[in-house]
Amino acid sequence: MVVNIPKPDKELFNMLDEYKGIFIVACGGCPVGCDSGGMERVKELEGLLVKNQKKVTGNALIDFLCNKALVGSRLASHIEPLRNTDAVLVVSCGIGVQATASMIDLPAIPANDTLSSQGMQGLWPSSERCAGCGTCYLALTGGICPITTCSKSLLNGMCGGQHDGKCEVEESRDCGWYLIFNRLKELGKLDNLKKIPMLRDYRKLDVPDKERTTTRWALEKTEVYSETVWKQAEEKKEA
Ligand code: SF4
Ligand code: SF4
Repeated sequence: MVVNIPKPDKELFNMLDEYKGIFIVACGGCPVGCDSGGMERVKELEGLLVKNQKKVTGNALIDFLCNKALVGSRLASHIEPLRNTDAVLVVSCGIGVQATASMIDLPAIPANDTLSSQGMQGLWPSSERCAGCGTCYLALTGGICPITTCSKSLLNGMCGGQHDGKCEVEESRDCGWYLIFNRLKELGKLDNLKKIPMLRDYRKLDVPDKERTTTRWALEKTEVYSETVWKQAEEKKEA
């Protein structure tokens, strides 16, 4: 499971500040398991948006937002409301936001922060797309992740090494920041480059204990627990 949690409301409204008509796209997969998605969360967000003078143009709950083809086909039946939309609010992990952004010509705004994907890239596994950095920047970068597309995971790219759109670290690789620049240009959002924070809060990389509920973590916890119990029993025996 890709662990993701809701962004704080204040951050959400900062990102949505310049947009009036909002369409909500939500993933019916991992976020439901993390209590950060599903129809209940969509309804909660709708209420919050309306209360803050936004217009909700519609919503779509899609089984797995990391399935690009599915996202495209499901959004195709919402063309009319999407025409009256300024931005799409995406309730999912970073992979789902990127899949949605790649299928529409609108800004895709992440409603959640992804804390850990444990290397899993959902149903879009051809490349690493989300590294679970804990602070999703996709609202500012046109739906292209700077952490995974830039070889140095820079927030203040592009670096001086970019040449003909290729990365200096690996010549065959597209420069992530070149892609971000072009995407922002297409969206008319080059101003976003001035808003990207220069520093990352690396504390957010750690996953809080209460979110460590996946099978792997559960197994590790059981192991640690049994070792402790076993040690205590041995100590008791010796005493
Ligand atoms: S910025 Fe990238 S690594 Fe961080 S949560 Fe978003 S998609 Fe994942
Ligand atoms: S060339 Fe582009 S992708 Fe490569 S390290 Fe520099 S900014 Fe990042």
